[in-house]
Amino acid sequence: MSTLFEKIIAREIPADIVYEDDICICFKDIEPQAPTHLLLVPKKVITGIGLAQAQDAQILGHLMVTIPTIAQQQGFASDGFRVTINHGSDGGQTVDHLHLHLLAGRSLTWPPG
Ligand code: 5GP
Repeated sequence: MSTLFEKIIAREIPADIVYEDDICICFKDIEPQAPTHLLLVPKKVITGIGLAQAQDAQILGHLMVTIPTIAQQQGFASDGFRVTINHGSDGGQTVDHLHLHLLAGRSLTWPPG
């Protein structure tokens, strides 16, 4: 069975896509927690960051170096932003397909709830 995010990648479910390349896709979160709330998702299904393997290193690195490109394109690079990965139930993960939350557009508090 496909994950929710695979269905977005396959255009079976609509999403507001802001960036895509061969390895990853980035789209707006349906329930934004900040003025800008994007999800950066590898096209390969990695269930969660806690289950990433050495063979995923190139994909994970690609996600990281793509963040500044998206931040520039979306106009939040200069004011700052937060990148969050939730894993498992205590981490608050609800979709079992690795995704990075990119949160921007307001001053974010710490510690998280
Ligand atoms: P998690 O809780 O797993 O860290 O993050 C999953 C995120 O996916 C949540 O922020 C949630 O709002 C978002 N989400 C859930 N369903 C959809 C959907 O159908 N479309 C989009 N764009 N985001 C979704």
